[in-house]
Amino acid sequence: MNLILLGPPGAGKGTQAKILEEQMGFKQLSTGDMLRAAKAAGTEIGLKAKAVMDRGDLVSDDIVIGIVSERLDQPDVKKGVVFDGFPRTPAQAEALDKLLASKGQKLNAVIEMKVDDEALVKRIVGRYTCAKCGQGYHEEFAKPKQAGTCDVCGSTEFTRRADDNEKTVRDRLHVYNTQTAPLVAYYRAQGNLHVIDGMADIAVVTREMSSVLSRVKA
Ligand code: ADP
Ligand code: AMP
Repeated sequence: MNLILLGPPGAGKGTQAKILEEQMGFKQLSTGDMLRAAKAAGTEIGLKAKAVMDRGDLVSDDIVIGIVSERLDQPDVKKGVVFDGFPRTPAQAEALDKLLASKGQKLNAVIEMKVDDEALVKRIVGRYTCAKCGQGYHEEFAKPKQAGTCDVCGSTEFTRRADDNEKTVRDRLHVYNTQTAPLVAYYRAQGNLHVIDGMADIAVVTREMSSVLSRVKA
């Protein structure tokens, strides 16, 4: 099954994608994570993407479609992918339809996660991640059980993203509303769109997603 989590920065896509990966065996495909890894490794793509990402703009369709295409050729994604942060433009959505079709696959569902702008800003500004295993946390909404220690791997080192500040978040929300939001109509027209309330607690959102997925044909 192939699933897209569609929603603005901070909607909870990464949080829910990781839960779906653990609970249902989906593979999370986050273009943001892939681009950050390229940036950290100093690859050509990473160098090209760095300034664009730091100011909250979108990396070019060609680059992003290229990395997704390569990732979909790997064997571990054959059973199903949860796309997190991709597609973000109509060109990317059309490219994904073609890529899946070329592999004899299709998109099964798109879940739009709706969250108010002010809640998004609060979520992004308080977000941090385990530096060792990548588990996501929030200063207020998703604290580790023991302060300062990762629940998953026990590490005491955490990082924050360069673009997770209030100014860049507002720019990213504008980019989402102008360049990505048109995908809602695209997927509604395809008959794949499901809308959920992303304002609820993490566990409640997970339950709503499971309920949507139980109604979707594989
Ligand atoms: P996205 O991947 O859509 O940008 P994340 O999953 O990284 O968003 O979530 C952004 C921040 O908000 C994280 O710090 C996460 O712990 C927190 N968060 C995620 N879902 C919820 C929720 N339903 N309620 C409150 N906080 C949440
Ligand atoms: P994210 O981790 O999804 O919040 O993405 C972080 C940043 O990576 C974005 O602000 C963009 O600069 C870039 N990015 C991630 N995914 C895409 C995409 N599908 N298309 C273009 N840029 C992307």
